Amino acid sequence: MTKRDYYTRDDTYGEAHILRCIATHDGYFDSELDATLFHPQGGGQPADKGWIGNVPVLSVFNDGETVWHRTSEPVATGPVAIRVDSELRALHARWHSAGHLIGYAGELHGWQPVKAHHWPGEGRITFTGNSVGAAPDASLIEAQISAWIEGSLPRKIEFIDGKREVRFGELPAYGCGGTHSQTTGEIGHVTLTSVKMKKGQLVVSYTLS
Ligand SMILES: [Zn+2]
Repeated sequence: MTKRDYYTRDDTYGEAHILRCIATHDGYFDSELDATLFHPQGGGQPADKGWIGNVPVLSVFNDGETVWHRTSEPVATGPVAIRVDSELRALHARWHSAGHLIGYAGELHGWQPVKAHHWPGEGRITFTGNSVGAAPDASLIEAQISAWIEGSLPRKIEFIDGKREVRFGELPAYGCGGTHSQTTGEIGHVTLTSVKMKKGQLVVSYTLS
């Protein structure tokens, strides 16, 4: 089980212990650390990249309770410095945090977010369950999100019965394992590129500037 330090800290560098490093059948090396600052791919968010010592981390992924760090060179077991690409982290956090706000805005219109994809350039949130069934006006949602961003609402992280919950200001909490901007003000301007119905679900696509 990997301790997920990124759950509680925004630090992008620190120390860890490499517990094991295993060669993959296709020429890569996967390392298990005792604790990690790297966010693995999941929850609609791409993985962090960065370095273990001087070795680039190409991808990070979950396998049950273990977080694996993939490199193209082996790394020695024992203590090591780890560093997350801080610019990429901030970008992913902005896209993911924007997804939260779109989710909240959809809920105000009676929709329930069911699926989220926060990859830069591909952002979209899928909603279900509005009895009216008509797509809301994109400009109303955009205006709501802009107000929350202008309010620079602080991020709050809580653990309730061991479950991580993330909220901005007094907006509702979402159970979430992702990384987030420290305030909504860091997200920047969110533009909805399309708001449409697809097989009874509402699909909201977005971009950041
Ligand atoms: Zn989140």
